[in-house]
Amino acid sequence: MKYEVRCECGKPFSVTGADAGTSLKCGCGRTVEVPPLHQLRTAAGQNVLSPALRVETLLLEGKLPGTRKCAVCTRETDGRSRVAVECARGILKDDGSSRDQIAAGCLFGLLFGGAVGLFGANRIMSGESANLKAVGQDVAFTLPLPVCEGCQPTVTKPTELRTALRHIPDYAALLDAHPDAKIVLLG
Ligand SMILES: [Zn+2]
Ligand SMILES: [Zn+2]
Repeated sequence: MKYEVRCECGKPFSVTGADAGTSLKCGCGRTVEVPPLHQLRTAAGQNVLSPALRVETLLLEGKLPGTRKCAVCTRETDGRSRVAVECARGILKDDGSSRDQIAAGCLFGLLFGGAVGLFGANRIMSGESANLKAVGQDVAFTLPLPVCEGCQPTVTKPTELRTALRHIPDYAALLDAHPDAKIVLLG
């Protein structure tokens, strides 16, 4: 597995686990320390852990579903189904800002869903997460899914919705991270 470390000047270096703990010489003259393997893994874990964050961000930017192809028959369509995906128990930060709630909630679900055990334990115990507390609310995304009018009657059950959602790569990643997510058609 390859990891990326950056010099203070911004130049990225691709390293492997075998380089952990060594140092590199950057063209700018600085020495770049390659962190120990567990730190490299933790850093890489942030990328692995991000499907929920990514979906959240793309939703806010209006970039989903990112395709006009019907998720069933693949014909171009302006038809949209709205699908609710409840991906985890909500986690509230004490200060309670809503974006952090969603992000943390989904991360939490992922960590303890067992998909990526190792890095997760670190992160949840680190100070970053210390002020999180679980509350009994589910966190839900409302995902726009392109489905043409002809196909809409055929995609209403959770199993059918799940299959259709998987045609959108970012939704597929979210569902992989949250295999127990509840899926409901909103309309
Ligand atoms: Zn440099
Ligand atoms: Zn269709």
